[in-house]
Amino acid sequence: MQIIDGKAHALRLRAGIAQAVIARSAAGARAPALAVVLVGEDPASEVYVRNKTAACAQAGITSIEHRRDTTLTEADLLALVEQLNHDPAIDGILVQLPLPARIDSARVLAAIHPDKDVDGFHPVNVGRLASGLDGFVPCTPLGCLRLLEATLGDLAGAEALVIGRSNIVGRPMASLLVGASATVTVAHSRSRDLPALARRADIVVAAVGRPEMVRGTWLKPGCTVIDVGINRVPKESGPGTRLVGDVAFAEAADSAAHITPVPGGVGPMTIACLLENTLKAAARG
Ligand code: NDP
Repeated sequence: MQIIDGKAHALRLRAGIAQAVIARSAAGARAPALAVVLVGEDPASEVYVRNKTAACAQAGITSIEHRRDTTLTEADLLALVEQLNHDPAIDGILVQLPLPARIDSARVLAAIHPDKDVDGFHPVNVGRLASGLDGFVPCTPLGCLRLLEATLGDLAGAEALVIGRSNIVGRPMASLLVGASATVTVAHSRSRDLPALARRADIVVAAVGRPEMVRGTWLKPGCTVIDVGINRVPKESGPGTRLVGDVAFAEAADSAAHITPVPGGVGPMTIACLLENTLKAAARG
């Protein structure tokens, strides 16, 4: 059994991006620039934004944070997005989710110019991905695809099960796998007999948000497991919490040929793919 080292893959990807940024600046182009919009003080969002801006700095990408408190109105947020859309010094725009409940997230995401939509959530980019056209692909599923291709090479003909159908992970993951010519099943909370679906799958991507839901006995021997889930659970002994995925890792490791750990699997690739998308936006602009 091989543990897929997402951290190592992400470091390689980030090093390549840093090289490309240096090459761009040697050719006279300015550094790629990402605008990060953070509304409120959600502690998890604070951590994500801090990690993203640190990763940008390491790769030579300029990141500009726009912090607003929770009193910000939807109209003011839309005005900020519009200003960033027209700013020639900005290549990519990221609005950190979740937004306060009274702001319509879908409306805000749809206001981002598709060519600056480095998160790939704009309906135009969703449509491009579904149609097999070039566009921006959401960072987490893109990172999963990169890990799968690095581990397995050609995915053509593989039976893939994606568990979860969110716009952020499950659906775009399914589109990417179809694009890679895998045979794809998408499961969700209404699916019947998940273990039977998993038993057929050469590739299982779990994006559910339920700690250790996927059991080792469900898996086909020799399969590849990508665990997107990030769940905080109480430590088995002593105080505090620990992170686990959506897959029962120790059990799954007995059946699977390749598996991503949590943490250190998909998470680092998400950030690396955000940098990749920002570089792509700069190269297009
Ligand atoms: P959502 O809550 O948006 O979606 C969860 C999906 O799981 C839904 O489609 C839901 O089905 C499905 N589901 C829920 N219960 C079951 C069940 N019992 N059996 C089968 N399917 C079920 O979550 P996200 O997609 O945003 O995130 C999923 C996980 O990935 C979370 O743990 C999140 O923290 C993590 N994550 C990790 C990232 C990373 O960088 N590593 C980035 C983004 C997310 P239905 O549609 O029917 O409700």
